[in-house]
Amino acid sequence: MYTQLGLYIDGKWNHGNGGGGEEVINPATQKPLAHLPHATASDLDAALASAEKGFKLWKVKSAYDRAKVLRKAADLMRERADHIAGVLVQEQGKTFAEAKGEVVTSADIIEWFAEEGRRSYGRIIPSRNPTVRQMVVTEPVGVVAAFTPWNFPTLTPARKMGAALAAGCSLIIKASEETPGSCVEMVKCFEDAGLPAGVLNLVFGVPATVSEHLIASNIVRKISFTGSVPVGKHLAQLAAKGMKRATMELGGHSPVVVFGDADPEKTADTISAFKYRNAGQVCISPTRFYVQEAIYDRFVKRFTDNAKAIKLGDGMDKETTMGPLANPRRLDAMDTFVADAKNRGGKIQTGGSRSGNQGFFFEPTVITDIPDDSKIMTEEPFGPLAPIVTFKTFDEVVQRANSLEFGLAAYTFTSNPKTATAIGDALQSGMVGVNSVAISTPETPFGGIKDSGYGHEGGIEGLEVYMNKKFIAQA
Ligand code: NAD
Repeated sequence: MYTQLGLYIDGKWNHGNGGGGEEVINPATQKPLAHLPHATASDLDAALASAEKGFKLWKVKSAYDRAKVLRKAADLMRERADHIAGVLVQEQGKTFAEAKGEVVTSADIIEWFAEEGRRSYGRIIPSRNPTVRQMVVTEPVGVVAAFTPWNFPTLTPARKMGAALAAGCSLIIKASEETPGSCVEMVKCFEDAGLPAGVLNLVFGVPATVSEHLIASNIVRKISFTGSVPVGKHLAQLAAKGMKRATMELGGHSPVVVFGDADPEKTADTISAFKYRNAGQVCISPTRFYVQEAIYDRFVKRFTDNAKAIKLGDGMDKETTMGPLANPRRLDAMDTFVADAKNRGGKIQTGGSRSGNQGFFFEPTVITDIPDDSKIMTEEPFGPLAPIVTFKTFDEVVQRANSLEFGLAAYTFTSNPKTATAIGDALQSGMVGVNSVAISTPETPFGGIKDSGYGHEGGIEGLEVYMNKKFIAQA
């Protein structure tokens, strides 16, 4: 069973006010799941007024009371995890196990921020004048407009909702129109947990129309966006016009550097499983693989064998280990990357084509012998393609790994502790996994540098971006 879709404004569900809408499609079957109503301009104004009212109510609640509501919402998400995960699989395509893991992690994120909100301390600074007390206090930024994509339909909203609500902000979230149902289900958890009307509002529509309307409003004080680099740059400009704070979680092109002293099979097992998670539609997906010559052949063989063993299918089928791509745009993009790779002399070790005649399926693909300036080595594929090339020296691989404008995630594998420290320091990236892929947890800062954006989600840094610091000198 899917879910009834709607907008959530001022504590009420609205199933369509004449603003048009669109059909939500199951990417495994290409069949429609439900009709999604779009917000009209007056719905957006109502959401703004609602969030303004919600902020006044929520900011005066104690962090202790806010945490109780957030923890209850997290508990409801865990209780309903099977249902929410089923909705997520139908609209997005990933496997049920991945979807359930996402929902449970989303609950963990909300719970972590609930607790961390209680620890957003200020400080007392010793004064030069003994009659003056100098204090730094934290205050919520205000009304937040958040925009989330289709690849993690509960996790990305959870990062924004958890942190903003824990900080005392109210929120208008525009979740992805392609994967709206699981976010609707999350919002219901907050509603049932007793979140006051107006504090959290959910809208859908034509993305550019909604974002321009909301960001232009004086009511909104902070923007948070997860998505592609071009859209992020556009929204950052809109935010700058109103001098509004912004967090930008944009695309990546993660290098994976495997040194000759790493175990080729063990490394290939770890990193190939991570590559094909969510069919590669992950901003921190391992993207270009640089493997030192001594272990290159063994690494490629094991990685390719693992790719061949993946079972493509509907995410609801227990046997499936990789679902379809989330939308037909990704299929077209994969065709373009593979055609360019072939033209540039690349060898397709496995995959390279669409699969089946129903659903947006693309084969897990491994490409070798590909030049560094090919499309797949320079543009974000956001799909199940793995280009694997060789390198000779440390300095050479650092230069190649750091050569793109992206700087979100990087991974490296070595058994030499000195190399591990040196490469961890040398990679230009917001997050680096050294012999590990565990770079995204509720407790740790998640964010990019260079074109991959700015600001953090997760960790104490993820809460701070929703707080103003105020200095008070009291005589
Ligand atoms: P896109 O650039 O059109 O959209 C990316 C996301 O931004 C979508 O969720 C979309 O609804 C939203 N969006 C688009 N225009 C917007 C606007 N003016 N205002 C507010 N939101 C807007 O492309 P796409 O085809 O959906 O995805 C393609 C690329 O986007 C991928 O190849 C990948 O590089 C990137 N992407 C990144 C992430 C991430 O987690 N960083 C997530 C999804 C997509």
